Amino acid sequence: MTLNLIFLGPPGAGKGTVAQSVAEKYSLVQISTGDLIRGEVASGSDFGKELAEIINKGELVSDEQVAKMLEEKLKEVYSSGASGVILDGFPRTILQAIELENIFSRIDKKLSAVIYIESSEENIVKRLSSRWTCSKCKKVYNALTNPPKVNGVCDIDNSQLTQRDDDKEETVRTRLAIFNEKTAPLIEYYKKKGLLKSYDGNVPPKESIVEAEKIIDELKNQID
Ligand code: AMP
Repeated sequence: MTLNLIFLGPPGAGKGTVAQSVAEKYSLVQISTGDLIRGEVASGSDFGKELAEIINKGELVSDEQVAKMLEEKLKEVYSSGASGVILDGFPRTILQAIELENIFSRIDKKLSAVIYIESSEENIVKRLSSRWTCSKCKKVYNALTNPPKVNGVCDIDNSQLTQRDDDKEETVRTRLAIFNEKTAPLIEYYKKKGLLKSYDGNVPPKESIVEAEKIIDELKNQID
């Protein structure tokens, strides 16, 4: 049986950092729709140019377009024998959550749980403005809490670290407002389904990872 998790939380709650770490520990594949979208943008395609305009304003890409990208990725990942996935940044609307159920049922998989990382607005703005990402392997650093060994350079492959265009303060505020309006209703949605597991993510990344691991260990005990 596969372990299929959603990491839910506002931008900057640490979803990507925690997902990256636990995916490695439990041999799960992390799928970030933000990374899929940024990959399309980097390809320079016409579709990528369309996407860049949307994400640089901090707005959401259409439910249909993101769901299609995700379904293709999920098929690819399971056909290469993955033991489970961590969805980071999807679903972001109730419609996407419903579409995810359709996708999972088409590929004969099931959602195991939703891990909600709670985070205060103050922490979010602080974290996003100090976030740096490796231009090659996409590893995420934080200038304040998780700096690279050498300033501006990735520990893993020595590539240059870059800051995301949508991490500017004004765009961050738009992204937060959109989270509150469109994504936060998912908390209640998954709570009602009995799938929600929450923890306080207003802690340093290492502690946040430990909290997520506790939840996953418990889930694995129930499944095994
Ligand atoms: P993220 O890396 O998850 O913060 O995503 C960066 C940006 O990509 C978001 O601000 C949105 O513009 C877009 N995006 C990522 N995931 C989704 C999604 N599930 N639905 C709509 N837009 C998305």
